[in-house]
Amino acid sequence: MTDTRDGLRHALNQGFDALEEARESFEARMPVREVGRVISVSTGIARVSGLPNVGYEELLVFPGGIFGIAFNLDEQEIGVVLLGEYRHLQAGDEVQRTGRVMDVPVGETMIGRVVDPLGRPLDEGHPPQASRRMPIERTAPAIMDRAAVSVPLQTGLKVIDALIPIGRGQRELILGDRQTGKTSIAIDTILNQRGKDVFCVYCAIGQRTASVAKAVATLQAHGAMEYTTVVVTEGNQAPGLAYIAPYAATTIAEHLMTDGQDVLIVYDDLTQHARAYRELSLLLRRPPGREAFPGDIFYIHSRLLERATHLRSEEGGGSLTALPIIETEAQDISAYIPTNLISITDGQIFLSPSLFELGMLPAVDVGKSVSRVGGKAQRKALREVAGDLKLAYAQFEELESFARFGARLDEETRRVIEHGRRIRACLKQPEAQPVPLAEQIVLMVALSEQLFDEIPLAKMPEAEGRVRSIVADLDEPLRDSLAAGTSLSEAQRASIIETARGALQPFLGEKDEDAGDDQSESRL
Ligand code: ATP
Ligand code: MG
Repeated sequence: MTDTRDGLRHALNQGFDALEEARESFEARMPVREVGRVISVSTGIARVSGLPNVGYEELLVFPGGIFGIAFNLDEQEIGVVLLGEYRHLQAGDEVQRTGRVMDVPVGETMIGRVVDPLGRPLDEGHPPQASRRMPIERTAPAIMDRAAVSVPLQTGLKVIDALIPIGRGQRELILGDRQTGKTSIAIDTILNQRGKDVFCVYCAIGQRTASVAKAVATLQAHGAMEYTTVVVTEGNQAPGLAYIAPYAATTIAEHLMTDGQDVLIVYDDLTQHARAYRELSLLLRRPPGREAFPGDIFYIHSRLLERATHLRSEEGGGSLTALPIIETEAQDISAYIPTNLISITDGQIFLSPSLFELGMLPAVDVGKSVSRVGGKAQRKALREVAGDLKLAYAQFEELESFARFGARLDEETRRVIEHGRRIRACLKQPEAQPVPLAEQIVLMVALSEQLFDEIPLAKMPEAEGRVRSIVADLDEPLRDSLAAGTSLSEAQRASIIETARGALQPFLGEKDEDAGDDQSESRL
């Protein structure tokens, strides 16, 4: 009896196994395709039903080849963020799963290209022929894989390199009201990377088409596209594209970093990114918090900026420096998004609209700007003089407000103010004219030695140019050490001061005709 039962069970099991095998081989030949249906479409969002197995952030395909990301996973329906022109979509349209997450093409082919966040070309060229694609969201490098910031990222802007130095692998926020020169600082920094083995990624999020075109034209005109990738979403496109743009751009940059390269990435700007995410979250009916931003707004920015780092040499030694840009309103840096980003980054460059109006360009407010790690990476020759200059400048700013009331000043105060004015004049710089390291050092040494103090303010630009040009007159070993930024010996320093003093001789003794009626100076 038991024998018959065992025999029967055995035969049954064999039958089941054969059935299972047949099912598996059938599925292997004809994979099961899950197809859902669009329930409704609103600004940049679609609700879809009939995809019970879809994963979080899985890529979905809509009619017309439009991609979407599965964002809200509810039991009955899913909320999908659309990545492209969605106006032709209708209720009832078919939606397919892809089984993968959003990715972008990466590698050398992306250099020199202008692409959208999906990696599609926006310039005249062919689609990038990348051998690899990588997901746009990746975990940041682990703590143990990171090294301290030790190499400077020269911006070519005197005020930043001398007083608020940035290191490779640092995250430095640029913030300021609208039209204060935020983009210009970032673009100038990219221009200065020419010949310095730093790849750059400029990510424009929700900017006006004209500003993006201007930025790309500037990069092209200065030969900077040879080492730069531009990732663009415009203000009138689907908010989903603005949301994924910085992640996609970071993946392109990160791939170069893991290859051992130094990379610089600019996010212009994260205010637009936060707004796009707020728009999506509200449409997806996520609960709004402070300033109607969703609760995870801090997290979306911190997980983005954590990907910037300096890898230790065992990991290739590459670095990713991030310059996120934030637009403030009426200089309010205590608004939600600015405070978040100030706390995530390693320092900030604050641009002041009042300095901008007075033509003190770049309009960096030195008192409100800080770089928390860059000082360690700053070139020694600059660091040696930067401390003195910062102190002199801070004293000047404090005394300047007294001087404004026409108070009678003693000789010492007057000297501090005159010195401060010369420092400010020397830190002015036009757009797209980066100053090489050697010239910066010579200038700062001359400034800290107070060589400019007797020169009329009106003559400062000319005098500055003359001092910068003395680099060519210095002997070769000194020129080499200036280019490398190594610590200056007493003799070297003396030689620079001597030559600079000679160059400034013709400017001395001239009367400061503009003194007193220099509008900008007296108003400040
Ligand atoms: P938005 O808020 O519109 O993005 P922004 O803060 O990025 O503006 P920019 O577009 O960089 O500001 O600059 C505003 C204007 O100031 C531009 O016309 C630019 O040419 C000019 N500008 C910026 N920096 C300088 C400079 N150092 N010297 C002269 N002009 C400058
Ligand atoms: Mg801008």
